[in-house]
Amino acid sequence: MTNIFEQAKNFYKEANLKCFNCGNEIKENELFSVTLTLPSKSKMPVGVLDKVLAKQANKVLCSSCK
Ligand SMILES: [Zn+2]
Repeated sequence: MTNIFEQAKNFYKEANLKCFNCGNEIKENELFSVTLTLPSKSKMPVGVLDKVLAKQANKVLCSSCK
């Protein structure tokens, strides 16, 4: 059974923006590359950029992996 705090924790965990190649977390002020499919207007994500990208991006690469 998962409670709401566990769900929130998992959500936060998944929302971290990580390099798809080396797995390093993309940090503030860090340059990175992202491959993105533009979602349809009805599914357009709204929110904090790194969390949106973590969910929507096809590929995320840190500056040393791109
Ligand atoms: Zn990397």
